[in-house]
Amino acid sequence: MLGATSVIAKSAEDSKPKNVVPGSIGEPMVISTWDFGVRANTKAIEVLKAGGTALDAVQQGVMVVESDPTVTSVGYGGLPNAAGVVQLDASIMNGNDLECGAVAGLSGFENPVSVARKVMDDTPHVLIVGSGARQFALSKGFKERDLLTERSRAAWQEWRLKQEKKERTEDHDTIGMVAIDRRGQMAAACTTSGLAWKIPGRVGDSPLVGHGLYCDSDVGGAAATGIGEEVIKVCGSYQVVEYMRQGVHPQEAVKKVLQRVLDRQPNQPERWVGFVALRKDGEVGYASTNAGFQVAVADLTSSRLIAAASLR
Ligand code: ASP
Repeated sequence: MLGATSVIAKSAEDSKPKNVVPGSIGEPMVISTWDFGVRANTKAIEVLKAGGTALDAVQQGVMVVESDPTVTSVGYGGLPNAAGVVQLDASIMNGNDLECGAVAGLSGFENPVSVARKVMDDTPHVLIVGSGARQFALSKGFKERDLLTERSRAAWQEWRLKQEKKERTEDHDTIGMVAIDRRGQMAAACTTSGLAWKIPGRVGDSPLVGHGLYCDSDVGGAAATGIGEEVIKVCGSYQVVEYMRQGVHPQEAVKKVLQRVLDRQPNQPERWVGFVALRKDGEVGYASTNAGFQVAVADLTSSRLIAAASLR
């Protein structure tokens, strides 16, 4: 019962990373997946510039992409599942205390990352799915809306026709973001409509902490995009962070995890994966199994879109 689980409020003050000197000033920074990450980063940097926390920055940053109807792989306007229903997955993680929240298979809400934040802030749970997530969102005052746009509905109808002709199409791309604020506190968020035309109820890596994202302010954070099933098989984002914890540079950490995917699936070129990583000192890493991945990196004075290296 929601009422019984309602309040475990946590403040940013409660959750300082152990190795950051209180009051020390660092350089706020953010890294995101894909070209739409540039717009998300702009919002996140605005929050960080104003002295906001990394947690608020990643939430508000990815919301920009969730609410953008032209992005067909995240939030409103995301491509639906095989039944024509948009089912969203999202997660958020506070690197200071490892608190996290997530929703999966959520339909009818434009900003699933904000529902995930409520799971984190207002419940003792980490992941709420399907109709339970819908009820939870409604109980928290989120407003329902039809997530299908003219464009995504037409794309689904076209896909259905192709299905009849046995042609296969695929469309996806998640926004994953990692940020560090002035206090050296880190956070990550990840949100997606998942693989287009997925089997109803399919859940990818994005709402699974350790897979679609992971963040520990003592070390750094990582987020994933690509075929979620492949990310899950290698505990992708957690493994990137754990390599960094062992002293591996973020770029090498990303490559080592991607190599693990490739080693086990050498003849499956369609099973591609990409990661972004940010270490607590501002060093970044990004790469993908296949060509075409782009990452967005921003700090207080610059914003860049970078073509990431691929391993094959
Ligand atoms: N990782 C997402 C999923 O499998 C999709 C993507 O990022 O392209 O749901």
